[in-house]
Amino acid sequence: MPPYIGRFAPSPTGPLHAGSLVAALASWLDARAHGGQWLVRIEDVDTPRCVPGTDLTILQQLATCGLHPDAPPVWQSQRTALYQQALDQLVISGLAYPCACSRKDIETALQAAGIEKPRHGELIYPGTCRPERGGLHGKAARAWRLHTGFSVPNMPLARIQIAQAATETIANSDPVVHWSDRRLGAQAQDVAAEVGDFVLLRADGLFAYQLAVVVDDTAQGITHVVRGEDLTDNTARQILLQRALCLPTPSYLHTPLVLGANGEKLSKQNGAAALDLSAPLVALNQAAHTLGLPQQVGPVQDALSGWTGLWLAQAAMRRL
Ligand code: GLU
Repeated sequence: MPPYIGRFAPSPTGPLHAGSLVAALASWLDARAHGGQWLVRIEDVDTPRCVPGTDLTILQQLATCGLHPDAPPVWQSQRTALYQQALDQLVISGLAYPCACSRKDIETALQAAGIEKPRHGELIYPGTCRPERGGLHGKAARAWRLHTGFSVPNMPLARIQIAQAATETIANSDPVVHWSDRRLGAQAQDVAAEVGDFVLLRADGLFAYQLAVVVDDTAQGITHVVRGEDLTDNTARQILLQRALCLPTPSYLHTPLVLGANGEKLSKQNGAAALDLSAPLVALNQAAHTLGLPQQVGPVQDALSGWTGLWLAQAAMRRL
């Protein structure tokens, strides 16, 4: 078994709120309970959405809650060379292709094919610029996409390597990515049908979250991803990318979300209040409650040790 390395990967689009503290606390507790390392990665790859200074606010908020990383944090904005390398590799393997379509072009193509525009969620790219469909049709490239139609063995990389070493044939006809979440159980997504060829390098020249997160999780040796349940739906795309890049797949655990008064998940977008860290234990107790852990009376260090001791036992009960 590789050593445990976990991470918390906030986007600095605003300070931590009650919902993001749940993911931070859960990832910290899981790493500590496994005797592992816990890293912090500032996901500032989507620069237009970042709010200057909130990266430092988040790091300060984590420190106030006693959640100290085991290595200096990294910033995605300083790691674009790694993302470019990964994209180059996909291009060389024929798994990424340039796309000239604007959102309007995609809507028109979907309309022409009689496909209704989804009321929520992203448009499923109809594959207009796929190489086998004539590529860019003489237009200029705007973005780069993953060709999701490639064949992906539904098994961990190690298993593939053993099979290849033994010259065993790996048959794969299943387009569905199957994976297992430690809390939510068996998951499956047909990425090609349900998401389509997703963007790796955006029209504004920025690398997409999906590519950056996969490259960084491997580069940092992450073995366990613990993050909010709102990201569950991204996991199959990330596993597909790991397979396309021949990278290992970590274990995944998606934590329960904190809902606001309107029943929607708390997020910076819907105006969640920044944590009141004049009393960090109150905020931590609230996060612990969401994770099914008992309240602690403090001080913060004692509360964290108490929850660490309970984490794995409770996890078994709650399928964490
Ligand atoms: N940066 C993402 C967010 O703040 C989290 C990404 C991840 O944990 O994989 O929502």
